Amino acid sequence: MLVNMKKILEIAEAEGYAIPCINTPNEETVRAVIGAAEELNTPIIIDHAQVHDSLIPIERIGPIMLKYAKEARVPVCVHLDHGSDYEFVMRAVKVGFPSIMYDCSALPFEENVEKVAQFVKFAHAAGITVEAELGIMASTDEDTHDDDPEKRVLTNEDIREFFTEPAEAKEFAERTKCDALAVCFGTMHGIYAEPPVLDIDRVKELREAIPDDTRIVMHGASGVEFDQVQNAITAGCSKVNYYSYMAKATTKFVADKVAETDGKIAYHELQEAAYEFMKGYAKDVIKAFKNGK
Ligand SMILES: [Zn+2]
Repeated sequence: MLVNMKKILEIAEAEGYAIPCINTPNEETVRAVIGAAEELNTPIIIDHAQVHDSLIPIERIGPIMLKYAKEARVPVCVHLDHGSDYEFVMRAVKVGFPSIMYDCSALPFEENVEKVAQFVKFAHAAGITVEAELGIMASTDEDTHDDDPEKRVLTNEDIREFFTEPAEAKEFAERTKCDALAVCFGTMHGIYAEPPVLDIDRVKELREAIPDDTRIVMHGASGVEFDQVQNAITAGCSKVNYYSYMAKATTKFVADKVAETDGKIAYHELQEAAYEFMKGYAKDVIKAFKNGK
């Protein structure tokens, strides 16, 4: 069943756990993630990232995501991840996404507030939920920093300056009325240079400061020890984005499979095996974020 994010975040809040949000840049991943959620009878969020649009445009993968979501036996939210251009965000609206992240976090505070508040008005009238971001999520993604490899090595100390301030988060949520807010407290996008250390007290302070109807989102969870993710969830994160390490693990699985069969495995069999592997991986992620519930 296709839903917007409000419904799913309400379930997460009531149950005291977090719902994973996983990138699904091809049909196998869409099937694997929704299949995992169905087997565990839990709601799930699948998303398309603007940075993946050069790989597969939203007009091609979006209708596939929406079709599987509608047919699913559990609530599935189809979400746009990090839409940073208004034009791109409107493409997601046109394709029929019921949930959109409008990320203006690179802009000064006032501009971020104004742009998000204006979009929320339009989106809520159309039944679309909105996620925003405050504080800058550092990124080690090659596609963001391919020009300067130095920038891809960020330490835990380096990223403290990007952390979200609770008082600003409160004002932001009150003025924009966004449904979800991505905040920074120790994670980053991509592959970590050293084991990340999350500031759990910061999550608690943020949760206390932000109005209840804006749920807290953690990005860049893959690569963080599950224990730390669980502490962040207990402290108040309701949606947790996860992807990079699942993609890496699947690449290794596929490489091993090809080696194991001496390259004799047919491509369609490889694809199906990768689907089963990703489904198992997604199930582990969902279970970890449910904190044993
Ligand atoms: Zn993110």
